[in-house]
Amino acid sequence: MEKCWDLNQLYLSFDDPQFSKDIKTLEKRLEDMKSIPCQDVHEDNLKSYLEQFNQFQDLVEKIYAFISLTMSSDTTNQDALKYSSVIETLLASFADTQARIDRWIGQFDLSQIQDSYIQEHMYVLQEIQENNHHLLSDEGEKVLAQMKTTGSSAWLKYKDQLISSMKVSMDGKDYPLTEVLNMAYSKDKDVRKKAYEAELAAYSQVEQGVASALNAIKGEAITVTQLRGYDSVLQRTLIDSRMSQKTLDVLLETMKKALPIFERYYRLKAEHLGYFQGLPWYELYAPVVESHESYPFEKGSQFVIEQFYSFSKHLGDYAKKAVEQHWIDIYPRVGKVGGAFCHNLHCIGESRFLLNYGNEFGDTVTLGHELGHGFHGECLNQQTALNADYPMPIAETASTFCETIIKNAALKSADSTQKLFILENELCDCAQVIVDIYSRFLFESRLIERRQKGPLSVEEIKDLMLEAQKEAYGQGLDHRYLHPYMWTWKPHYYEADYAFYNFPYAFGLLLAKGLYALYQQQGPSFSEIYEKFLSLTGQMSLEDVGKSVGIDLQDAHFWQNSIDMIKDDIDLFEELLKQNS
Ligand SMILES: [Zn+2]
Repeated sequence: MEKCWDLNQLYLSFDDPQFSKDIKTLEKRLEDMKSIPCQDVHEDNLKSYLEQFNQFQDLVEKIYAFISLTMSSDTTNQDALKYSSVIETLLASFADTQARIDRWIGQFDLSQIQDSYIQEHMYVLQEIQENNHHLLSDEGEKVLAQMKTTGSSAWLKYKDQLISSMKVSMDGKDYPLTEVLNMAYSKDKDVRKKAYEAELAAYSQVEQGVASALNAIKGEAITVTQLRGYDSVLQRTLIDSRMSQKTLDVLLETMKKALPIFERYYRLKAEHLGYFQGLPWYELYAPVVESHESYPFEKGSQFVIEQFYSFSKHLGDYAKKAVEQHWIDIYPRVGKVGGAFCHNLHCIGESRFLLNYGNEFGDTVTLGHELGHGFHGECLNQQTALNADYPMPIAETASTFCETIIKNAALKSADSTQKLFILENELCDCAQVIVDIYSRFLFESRLIERRQKGPLSVEEIKDLMLEAQKEAYGQGLDHRYLHPYMWTWKPHYYEADYAFYNFPYAFGLLLAKGLYALYQQQGPSFSEIYEKFLSLTGQMSLEDVGKSVGIDLQDAHFWQNSIDMIKDDIDLFEELLKQNS
């Protein structure tokens, strides 16, 4: 089996004449858009701008995807590094023109539009008009874009450098942080505990620098929010997420109400492992049983394809095509990035997947997860680039939905021990997405509130984190062993233009569970509704996307129903623990 992915549909190499030709075309398209007659409020001009912009988006995506995919499979590729900065500089120079065009779009009376191509983009156009209230002058936009490269973007790079070069000392040997974090999954309790202690001790080397980065980035987010005239940093995130405050409130309220359910799960796990004052942090990912089954890629991918066919022919065909046509870079290799991701390529109607496949059941679930992202892209391929761009909170829904298909199928055929293994994996993930995410939301809210009065010290940031963890985990965790440094390596706190990158995970998980419940009620006919749902995610508010499948995102019952499904799993977990102890 071919190990690497096939990128030939994009370019043969950086020397491919088509690559340099496309960069020239991109420069030309940017120039063309700069000369759009922004005094002329005429439908024909708007239509031609939308056509140009959609083509431009697909072209940027094609070039950028080739650069970034090459870089992730070969991190030291010099051509990729070079072209990445060429493209970034090119796009940053467009900020003032984009502001000018957005203001021009603001002058149209959209209710009078006759043209069907423009009408197809109505949601995006209305959104631009509404967001125009938050635009600065052309000059202001240009200054902000340029200052960001020496502000929050520079701080982010500095923070990444600190964390990736950090050495963790354990038993007289130095380890990179990522390796020590992985030890949380070790079968050996001593290793898990030692890794946690060594990790916490190591942060003293970098805590001042990382805190400076956090203070600077949150400071910039607050300043920009005020300059643009938003009520709060959270309001800006919600507008960008196409989501209402009410939906967020109902979601958070349901999560808060569900905390005792997860406290019970943590206590059960703790007692099974021999702890009676709650789970110490270093045992959060501890295995409760050993899996006795291995899942090499051939077996895992066959299983995923088969289960996807049980949902629909389209989903099955899609997964089969992805495997057979070498869209997946499967195994770990020196010089390749860690983790797993899916990159949807609207420009060519395909996707590429990076895995670090390791023959465990979890690797098969990850494959299902990433293919779920890919299928979301597949359902958006018929849309224009502008209408295929969906907001953050919906991003993890299709992936989690497909994960659920895989896990449920595996549960059905497993024996009692394997069942416990699968269920514990699932609950461990769900608890993270509800409980830890809730703690991160509390932490970030308080951090931003305090940052408005001035920078926080390392001790103050650590205290905020501990307070949030105590509140979210309750007695589920042993309060003597929490994690005061969870703000250091998690990338989510360091994106200046998208704060509160936490609740989207809970939104995605619970929405996917709700969709899965609909699938169970409606059977095979649901697949058509599901595809329609995914195809609409780039062109309406999240509430309206929900309505398209009869889901009311502002109704607490909907969210509660998903929580109840997890609660049933915890009941089963308790039963299986008894059988296996
Ligand atoms: Zn994902």
